Amino acid sequence: MKVTDHFQNANGKTLFTFEILPPLKGENMKTLFSHIDPLMEFNPPFIDVTYHREEYVYKQRENGLLEKRTTRKRPGTVGICAAIQNHYKVDTVPHLICGGFNKEETENALIDLHFLGIDNVLVLRGDCVKSEQRFVAEPGGHNYATELIGQVVDMNNGCYLDDEQTFHNPTDFCIGVAGYPEKHFEAPNLKSDLRWLKKKVELGAEYIVTQMFFDNQKYFDFVHRCREEGINVPIIPGLKPMTTKTQLTLLPSLFHIEIPCELADAIEACPDNKAAAQVGVEWAIQQSRELMEFGVPCLHYYSMGKSESVRKVAEALF
Ligand code: FAD
Repeated sequence: MKVTDHFQNANGKTLFTFEILPPLKGENMKTLFSHIDPLMEFNPPFIDVTYHREEYVYKQRENGLLEKRTTRKRPGTVGICAAIQNHYKVDTVPHLICGGFNKEETENALIDLHFLGIDNVLVLRGDCVKSEQRFVAEPGGHNYATELIGQVVDMNNGCYLDDEQTFHNPTDFCIGVAGYPEKHFEAPNLKSDLRWLKKKVELGAEYIVTQMFFDNQKYFDFVHRCREEGINVPIIPGLKPMTTKTQLTLLPSLFHIEIPCELADAIEACPDNKAAAQVGVEWAIQQSRELMEFGVPCLHYYSMGKSESVRKVAEALF
């Protein structure tokens, strides 16, 4: 079922959903299910599965020269989505990124997803590879999420790459996209970022999931600005309970977000990570309660491979 149908069927009740990362190479589904199992009693109608592009590593050869090798540390998003749907009978939302794919590879991934009965995709550009300064599209690939949305919409209209004149069975993917309450880090200003967000919706995105934020006012302001700009689709808040003291600096540097002073001071004062995780859970519960009162259709949690804190938050709310 489509994500948007789940929102409609909820009749105003706030849903609980979460995002997982594919396990590292060499792990198996048991590891993944052991992260998901503790969260299933809160009835998530769908689970997001991230996609991770290749990274480059440099290995020194015997002659001293460096050899560039490609690795993909967390493969398997399509297969994982199918396994989750089959095992738990819930919908999945695979993330689909521009980075590392040309259009043919994207089409093949979408054909596989369609075969497997997966009705949703979160369409993203993806970040640049760590060794590069800026995002570079694959030759014959897409530069922005807007372009990737175009390809999914084409397939939803029965138009595949091989022959624009031939009509194929259309796919019917519900498209979600990313939004940034604190602005995407490359955007010169929020107004410009919102212009592109609006474009993503005009092209066919049916809902938005936000980058994590720790200050609800940033989300409320963002929703207000979106509505002013005529962006009227559901905006799902993405939340992350902080779990370690190092995340205080790690999360801002990775995700270009601010941590409010009150939370930062409380985490800093913690003697260890156990205490920090407790503060993180309490903060996330408080954030979630306020967002529920605001009437959000869904609270979406970033588990980042660890479900314990998300479970504690869900226990208090759902
Ligand atoms: P875009 O919407 O393409 O925007 C990128 C930048 O370009 C923005 O600054 C925007 O203002 C600007 N822009 C947009 N369209 C245009 C255009 N047509 N012309 C000119 N400028 C434009 N990354 C992963 O690798 N894998 C994941 O699974 C993943 N999941 C995510 C889930 C969520 C909910 C979020 C919020 C992020 C996720 N990311 C993931 C990170 C995301 O890929 C990065 O933030 C990336 O830098 C931007 O992706 P985007 O889809 O927002 O890009």
